Formats: sequence, structure tokens, C-alpha cells
Amino acid sequence: MKIYLNGKFVNKEEATVSVFDHGLLYGDGIFEGIRAYNGRVFKLVEHIDRLYYSAKAIALNIPISKEEMIKATAETCKINNLSDAYIRLIVTRGVGDLGLNPNNCTVPQIIIIASSIKLYPEQYYTEGMSLITVPTTRNHHNAINPAIKSLNYLNNILAKIEAHNAGAEEAIMLNSQGYVAECTGDNIFIIKGNTLITPPLSAGALYGITRGTVIDIAKEIGMDIQEPDLTRYDVYNADECFITGSAAELVPIVKVDGRQIGEGKPGSKFNQLLQAFRNLTRTTGTPIFE
Ligand code: PMP
Repeated sequence: MKIYLNGKFVNKEEATVSVFDHGLLYGDGIFEGIRAYNGRVFKLVEHIDRLYYSAKAIALNIPISKEEMIKATAETCKINNLSDAYIRLIVTRGVGDLGLNPNNCTVPQIIIIASSIKLYPEQYYTEGMSLITVPTTRNHHNAINPAIKSLNYLNNILAKIEAHNAGAEEAIMLNSQGYVAECTGDNIFIIKGNTLITPPLSAGALYGITRGTVIDIAKEIGMDIQEPDLTRYDVYNADECFITGSAAELVPIVKVDGRQIGEGKPGSKFNQLLQAFRNLTRTTGTPIFE
């Protein structure tokens, strides 16, 4: 496996970073999780845009242009001969000293890994998955803004641990006002009648690329879209519920906090959205082998 490391492709064993990198010492850096399907990188431009927005928000100057980053990402798949891949793109603050001061870090480290990921068992997609609401709230905007895909994922990891402790795979995280924000690594949606409903980004959700894609598909198939503040009551009383993420794609949710959602199986609107999403992933994107 070849890893992209600061402009060069190196063997996996040689792809190392310093123990003084602030990405390691402080979680000071950003990342993206991207999928490639059928020889194309899905929504690559959108992911790279979000990476540069995250960088701006943490005042990190990525030393290469967006165009170069797009090319490097596609080339990492190409050099590994991958038509289908899960791509992890990381930019750290770089090597500094043991103090917090980011100004002592001179060169951000750019790492691109193209590999595979198997997130959830197939059964979750066919039969549905359960969620549980956890006590750890989503970061407040004035702390680490949830829109920043930073290397400091402890907020989400704590919520994941709480979900596992309660016997669930994934958690609903509320924001500090008690409204539904998102899951630990996925956005959340409910369906009521012909309306697709998801928390607004201001509630503490990540600007999910899959979220945006699903909203576009729903508009195309004639659904209404709403982004109100949502409570758990709204989720419990939904006709259908599902979560979205680049790794997980769309996962139907059939139980939340012990309450059955809708008919307790993946719903017809969900299946329609999933079908359309899968068609899109296999037919659009930035070509890898051209
Ligand atoms: N929320 C969080 C906290 C995430 O980390 C992710 C990505 N894994 C998502 C939502 C989904 O975003 P995307 O569809 O862009 O992968």
C-alpha cells in the first residue's frame, strides 16, 4: 500500500509522522473521510471544499492548492489500483514543541490513505439499526464548532462509548439546548408523510456531504424538506428514520431509546432514497484512472 505523504508516495511502513506533531499531541489538525466507487471519487470537490473550510476555521494554511489536493487524492487511489475505496485525508498542524503554540509548527503534514472500510454489518441495512440518546452533548459552537472536522473527535468518541455501554451501536447526540444535533459519525434524518426532516446545521450537525446529497435527491423525487429544531419526541413519532455518512452511506433506524420507529422496518421512502443514492455513487464523481 502506498500512502501520500507531503507530495510523495511512500510505502505504508515508511508513512510516519513525528511524535512532536501537534496532530498527535493536541488533536490539532483536520480530516476528511471520502469514498470512491466504480473508479470515481464521490463528491470529491465537496469534500476538498469542506477540508479547506475546516482549515480556515482552525487558522491552518494548507500548503497546496485545492486543485493539487484533488489530484493527489485521485492519484492515491490510482497508484494503489483501487476502484472502490475509503479515503482518509488528514492535514496536521505539523511538528512543533511540547507547548500548545501553533506558531511553533512550521510545516503542516498532508497524509492521504486509500484503503477500505467496513463499518456496519449488512443486517443493519436490511433490517435496520437501533439508536440510543447519550448524555454527552455535541460541542457548543463556541467550543470546537461541530462544522469543523477536526482531529479532536473526543466529543464523539465519548458519545460512542456511552452508546456501546448501553448496548447500542450508534448514539443520538443532543446539543446544549437539548435539541437533536446528529450521531457520533453520521447525520440524522426523519420522514413524516412526504417531508424529509433533518436538524439544521446550527443545531450542531456537521455539514455532511451525504446529508447534502440526500437532500438533493429528496427534492428531485418531490419530497418537501424541513430543517427545524428537532426534539427526541419528533424522532420517536417519525414515520421513518435514518442516518447518513460517507462511510455508512444510508442506514435505516428502526428503534430509538427503546421506541419502535414507524413499522419497525426500513420504510419505503428510505428504500427509494437509498436506491437513488446508490445509483448516484456508481455513476458520478471524479475519475481515478483518466
Ligand atoms: N457527522 C459527523 C460527526 C461525522 O464525523 C460525519 C462523517 N463521518 C458525518 C456527520 C457525515 O458526514 P459525511 O456525509 O460528509 O461523511
